[in-house]
Amino acid sequence: MRIVETIEEVRAQIAEWRKEGRTIGFVPTMGYLHEGHMSLIDAAGENDRVVVSIFVNPMQFGPNEDLASYPRDLEHDAGMCEEHGVDLIFYPTPEEMYGDTFYSYVDMNVLTQELCGLSRPVHFRGVCTVVAKLFNIVTPDKAYFGQKDAQQLAIIKRMVKDLNMPLTVIGCPIIREADGLAKSSRNTYLSPEERKAALVLSRSVFLGKKMVEEGERDAKKVISAMKEEIEREPLARIDYVKVVDLDTMQQVERIEGDILTAIAVFIGKTRLIDNFIYNEK
Ligand code: AMP
Repeated sequence: MRIVETIEEVRAQIAEWRKEGRTIGFVPTMGYLHEGHMSLIDAAGENDRVVVSIFVNPMQFGPNEDLASYPRDLEHDAGMCEEHGVDLIFYPTPEEMYGDTFYSYVDMNVLTQELCGLSRPVHFRGVCTVVAKLFNIVTPDKAYFGQKDAQQLAIIKRMVKDLNMPLTVIGCPIIREADGLAKSSRNTYLSPEERKAALVLSRSVFLGKKMVEEGERDAKKVISAMKEEIEREPLARIDYVKVVDLDTMQQVERIEGDILTAIAVFIGKTRLIDNFIYNEK
């Protein structure tokens, strides 16, 4: 496994693999890797070569967000990647990605105007821009994203479709801790007391999922039951609990077709997300 910091080195390696006729799977991450990331890397193993990027992208953080404190540990990440058969880690600096000046953005309407887009106004512009750049650098056949960030996955799929990017985007299921909490690099921010309180997210998601699976079709009823569950936890503060169409991210009243029920909840100062997808057969 190689770790490279420059775009030039990535391009040279990819060119070599292309000459050999290899297919390339790509997993973009912000590092501090856990089993959620590893599930994407394992899925990417269906390609001949696996590339992982580790880049805490300043452009997707708002001014009062956790860019400076975001956890980082390259040595640990490299160890996990090596164990899971990664061939190349791209670990650029912000300067390598954005230079001294940078004026171009990939932006999107509609899908970004809901859920996390409302609480994090510059977030998805930063995500689309960096992912488009990474796709141009790595030129993967397939790229792997987690359903943990379901809105991000929908947005990336849409970007690839709208802009005719020549790759396939693959969504992978949410990986959870044994007690239900969705794995996240941000879970490290939680104190032991908050870690216990954070279970309210998965409890609420499992409750909503069960209601829908048992036939509830009124989004309002599902949302209020889920909110009630969260409100029972004194350390929790709801950002949103919403039911949206899976493709457009627009709120729906009836649960029909493919829907996403997504929540964002502050546990103390830490903002966590969780969700479930329901596909009506
Ligand atoms: P991040 O490093 O948080 O930007 O995440 C990188 C990728 O890993 C994204 O596609 C995430 O959706 C995915 N991911 C993060 N946590 C999980 C999880 N618990 N289960 C599945 N995928 C995840």
